[in-house]
Amino acid sequence: MLTAIVGTNWGDEGKGRMVDLLSSGYDIVIRYQGGNNAGHTVINDKGKFILNLLPSGILRENTVNVMGCGMVIDIEHLYNETKRLTDKGISITPDNLKISEKAIICMPYHRLLDNLEEDRLRDRAYGSTRRGIAPVYGDKYMKKSIRIMDLLSPETLETKVRNIVQWKNLMIEGGYGAEAVDADEMIAWLHEFGDWLKPYISNTTLFLADAVRSGKKIMFEAQLGALKDIDFGIVPYTSSSSTIAAYAPIGAGIPFAKLDSVIGITKAYSSAVGEGPFTAEMFGEEADKLREAGGEYGAATGRPRRVGPLDIVASRYGVLVQGATEIALTKLDVLSYMDKIPVCVAYEIDGERTTDFPLGDRLDRAKPVIEYLEGFKTDISGCRKQEDLPKAALDYVKYVEKAIGCRIKYVSVGPSRDQYIVM
Ligand code: GDP
Repeated sequence: MLTAIVGTNWGDEGKGRMVDLLSSGYDIVIRYQGGNNAGHTVINDKGKFILNLLPSGILRENTVNVMGCGMVIDIEHLYNETKRLTDKGISITPDNLKISEKAIICMPYHRLLDNLEEDRLRDRAYGSTRRGIAPVYGDKYMKKSIRIMDLLSPETLETKVRNIVQWKNLMIEGGYGAEAVDADEMIAWLHEFGDWLKPYISNTTLFLADAVRSGKKIMFEAQLGALKDIDFGIVPYTSSSSTIAAYAPIGAGIPFAKLDSVIGITKAYSSAVGEGPFTAEMFGEEADKLREAGGEYGAATGRPRRVGPLDIVASRYGVLVQGATEIALTKLDVLSYMDKIPVCVAYEIDGERTTDFPLGDRLDRAKPVIEYLEGFKTDISGCRKQEDLPKAALDYVKYVEKAIGCRIKYVSVGPSRDQYIVM
């Protein structure tokens, strides 16, 4: 049984929490793309955890976690993230964490280049998290990357670093006029943060191929959502990797595998981080209230997120490109303060109404068409069955289900493990 859990919107839909919830039934959880540029917040009986790189299954005993070849890994960040977890009593060993030898290392010079470029762009900046993700994926396609497997061959590693740093400095020093990167420092950094993870490195393709063959239950965990996909999202305000479910088998290292189901995570309202078009964005007091109610601050950066009502146009597109077979609607409880619930039902572009999600400058010109549904005005965080939901809340769920064109199977009504309803 192979299931992908993906976001249908801009990310931060509550995927981490759903993976944590659903991973109890899975043997293996795999992260298949991205780096530490976003985060999942998971709250369980052991505490509150922010995960940027580690798969969410790491918080479950008996779940094997794989960091796939589609990932870019800042090994210093991984070291610190792992330490924060082990300090809180989470057991992390080569038995429950396996890192693909083919994954790529996000180097300090990638962070540097990310900063240099965002600074150069000033008010035209992409809103990058400045963690080096775009530069490291760029190098992947330039075939000038340090891969995790290189940590196992110190001589190859050293030669590669020296060659790549020489090339990088053409840009850093020659292009941006910044201080050149020192190859020896890079090699020392790779040893400092790379040596400890050697026991975790393996050919995860072979491990996973065996797991698929023997019928193990495998979950693919995405970072960010459909609209942040490098091909299908709001380029250039996207991530630099494929956040789409169809990429999951490739980024996991098992391109021959076929997904059995795709759980799309849709939040009961919208949020986005960084720059770029966000058609249904709320402003002022209305936005502040929703941001506070939903705790919409970046898990990786602490930045306040942009917020808005549920965007049916964007979500329907997200459901389509993700190939979602079922939906988990998260954070419905957050809307309980609203007298009337706003929903963006269509866009108006150049005087014409559309429900097809546009890209490029048509998206820039889109204006939201907002309609209001009745608010439920009660605390629903204690609801555990569909029958417990007040009528207005159930009507909202049914409305969304019809509008985005996919069955809503789970509704989450709070951040804790038991705060959800199976519809
Ligand atoms: P992710 O990257 O998609 O996992 O999203 P975030 O890290 O932004 O997680 C969403 C945040 O909302 C976390 O703080 C969760 O604990 C919290 N959360 C998740 N589901 C719910 C829910 O149903 N209700 C409420 N009130 N909070 C939730």
